[in-house]
Amino acid sequence: MTRQKISILGATGSVGLSTLDVLARHSERFEVFALTANNNVDGLLSLCKQYQPTFAVMRDEQAAIQLQAELRADGFKSEVLSGSDGLNHVASCDQVDMIMAAIVGAAGLESSLAAAQAGKRVLLANKESLVMSGALFMRTVKEYGAELLPIDSEHNAIFQCLANGSTEYAKGVTKILLTGSGGPLRTLPLDELQSVTPDQACAHPNWDMGRKISVDSATMMNKGLELIEARWLFDIHPDQIEIVVHPQSTIHSMVQYVDGSVIAQMGNPDMRIPIAHGLGWPERLSSGVADLDFVAQGQFDFVPLDRERFPLVAYAEHAARSAGSVAIALNAANEIAVEHFLHELIGFNDIPLVIESVLNRTEALETHTIDEIIAVDEQSRVYALEQTRQSSL
Ligand code: NAD
Ligand code: MG
Repeated sequence: MTRQKISILGATGSVGLSTLDVLARHSERFEVFALTANNNVDGLLSLCKQYQPTFAVMRDEQAAIQLQAELRADGFKSEVLSGSDGLNHVASCDQVDMIMAAIVGAAGLESSLAAAQAGKRVLLANKESLVMSGALFMRTVKEYGAELLPIDSEHNAIFQCLANGSTEYAKGVTKILLTGSGGPLRTLPLDELQSVTPDQACAHPNWDMGRKISVDSATMMNKGLELIEARWLFDIHPDQIEIVVHPQSTIHSMVQYVDGSVIAQMGNPDMRIPIAHGLGWPERLSSGVADLDFVAQGQFDFVPLDRERFPLVAYAEHAARSAGSVAIALNAANEIAVEHFLHELIGFNDIPLVIESVLNRTEALETHTIDEIIAVDEQSRVYALEQTRQSSL
């Protein structure tokens, strides 16, 4: 059997490394074709030595030059590319069969879209792509015959609860129950939120993730972005998506059917489960994740969503019901606010203030092309930067 060639976009990150872990268990089936990173030369260098991909791509040009020199000095032959052209090339060239889209943030949009346009199997972890360009992205997948497999654990769970994507099953769906743990700050006294440090916000009780998505989990913006993501992936009205807080993160999401059945997907909270599912679909592959121990787990809790503590959920719900520009603005403002919070330039409670101020200045418009999407994204970042200056500590 010829091995399937995969490009891992964002290979040095949390999802990228989990993907390599699963791939290493199935080296007879898959070949690592390309590995990419932003500017982490040491991280990509050691992965290139281990996996010897055909291509290595660094977003940053100087970093690419350094990587190339270090690889050659040690006798490794991976071809080094740089910039968005390099990323788009390994996402879409003829030789590649599938892509793991695991770049964080809006920076992942272009390459995810390039893979869809080239009709590849796209394993999509980069939720921001769909938040920004949902209608265009789904249209592109259809038009070019790409195969889109959700890797975000909730969306992968929903896909599985829809009998692995069966459209017949989807007809009987009345509601999607999107679960979220509530993150590390779910029970912290409200008056202590403003002084939360980046490390506290990133200390997720169940999941080990990159820092941006960890802060998104602490604010529950992650669940808001996921609501918008689900709306596009499953072509379902936002009113039919309910956020359910489930602190143990064992049930990864559920689907309610017209006959009263509720189907849930469960497992230990480990991204290797959805990754293995996406890699193997429609077959099942081993992932290295331990079986769920129901007795040790003891209980499944469900608690109401605390809307005072998590104001960003309402902004995301609003964006999900509005024209495309609102979700783009929400995402851009959030990226700027989270970055400033992680650098300790603004406080935790300033994150919603930045986002609210950007949404107040955003006109609700449909966005049809990538250029229109990027224009709204850039404008929103300018507004967000203005607000972060006012909130600066
Ligand atoms: P991370 O920060 O650990 O890794 C991000 C990767 O993207 C790194 O390889 C980095 O080099 C690369 N990158 C960063 N900025 C870039 C840029 N400007 N251009 C090119 N590459 C760039 O992030 P992560 O936690 O692995 O998350 C990746 C994506 O997957 C995010 O969209 C996140 O929302 C989604 N996701 C992550 C998890 C998780 O468990 N970590 C779960 C569900 C979804
Ligand atoms: Mg998720």
